[in-house]
Amino acid sequence: MINLLKKLCPLRLAPVSEDGDKAVTLLCKELPFTVHEYASGDEYNGWTVPQKWGAQKAEIWKDGVLLYDGMQHPLGVAGYCPSFQGRVSLKELKDHLFYHPNYAEALVYHCDYYYKPWQKTWGLCVPFNLYRSLEEGDYDVVLETVYEAGTMKVLDYFLEGESKETIILNAHSCHPAQANDDISGIVVGIEIIKRLMKIKKRKFSYRLIIAPEHLGTVFYLKNMPDEQVQSFKYAMFLEMLGNKNRLALQESFTGDTLIDKAGHHFLKHRFPEYHSDEFRKIVGNDETVWEAPGYEIPCISLSRMPYPEYHSSLDTENIIFEEKLEEAVVAVLGMLDIMETNTTMKRHFKGLVALSNPKYDLYISTFDPSIRPTVPEDQKKWNHLMNCLIRYFDEKTTIFEIAEKHEIDYARLYPYIKKYEEKGLISLSHDG
Ligand SMILES: [Zn+2]
Repeated sequence: MINLLKKLCPLRLAPVSEDGDKAVTLLCKELPFTVHEYASGDEYNGWTVPQKWGAQKAEIWKDGVLLYDGMQHPLGVAGYCPSFQGRVSLKELKDHLFYHPNYAEALVYHCDYYYKPWQKTWGLCVPFNLYRSLEEGDYDVVLETVYEAGTMKVLDYFLEGESKETIILNAHSCHPAQANDDISGIVVGIEIIKRLMKIKKRKFSYRLIIAPEHLGTVFYLKNMPDEQVQSFKYAMFLEMLGNKNRLALQESFTGDTLIDKAGHHFLKHRFPEYHSDEFRKIVGNDETVWEAPGYEIPCISLSRMPYPEYHSSLDTENIIFEEKLEEAVVAVLGMLDIMETNTTMKRHFKGLVALSNPKYDLYISTFDPSIRPTVPEDQKKWNHLMNCLIRYFDEKTTIFEIAEKHEIDYARLYPYIKKYEEKGLISLSHDG
């Protein structure tokens, strides 16, 4: 994952850009994506597919001395800003400079004009130290950017399962030079798909969508046939997954769908330090697009928000840790495993079964309180579960509901219930 991340980080990404096209070529070597293209100028609901844009020169001069070269870093020029050439006063210059309020030397990410082209004006992103050191006088600005017709590309990898019901994994591909936001989501998404491919029987189908934020998914959904969209049952946004902060689960709009519950359950048992909040209260991405009326696809988000380097030039590979990316992969696969395997159970016996009989060997002992009064909490829970379990073989109750009710880790409960199937006591319906 880190190797792919390092290849993508230096690119000057924008929703439609030459380097964005290079990223598409690189990513298609990882997975055979379908590439959907939407022409610059297409409009829908007030959104417009931007033109292909790039910066070529971005200089600030004073008295013949070059003070700043914005081409030194992909964040040095405000995204989608127009060209400008001329002599300006200090005040006018400052009106067109943007800086990060928390860092003296880092650059801020400026992406407003991607979405609000009607507001665009020329702009450079500079370190705060440079901004505050500027003295009275005139400055010469040479800013050259290029707009031309192009296509916005949305990468779509489809992994077919037994059912048409599809879970979307989504990451965005428009932020230049920001390793966490969201190149980390891209590489984690690809790794998840590669591991899902190795699972022989998959109930759900999956799609990994890598697209410019908002714009990409708006036009993707608009152009997708209704029948396909109706198969999209759940979505998960992946981003900012490589930094050192704990995992953060942002719930879907309603917060009570199976993907929300599976997310909470897996994280609570495996990464109990995680934190969580309601829809749009941790981070804002394409969940608003998936959840928009007419689609209403429940979309959770997994991230490691907040982190101090957010939307700055310090969001580099230096703050990315392979083990944190791996944790994110494990977390998503764990949530998906619940959704994949959850099912009801059909009973093939009547009456109480002697579970301790070696031919079943399913008994979970508890200590006799008169001999050893302190029974570990976990053991108490499991013993209680065992005594209730046979009533749940009713073709209505799901394994996940049992795990939730008894506060037992699904990843431990499922193999225990599988043993009942192996002993011929039940069959799993796999319709859960
Ligand atoms: Zn962002």
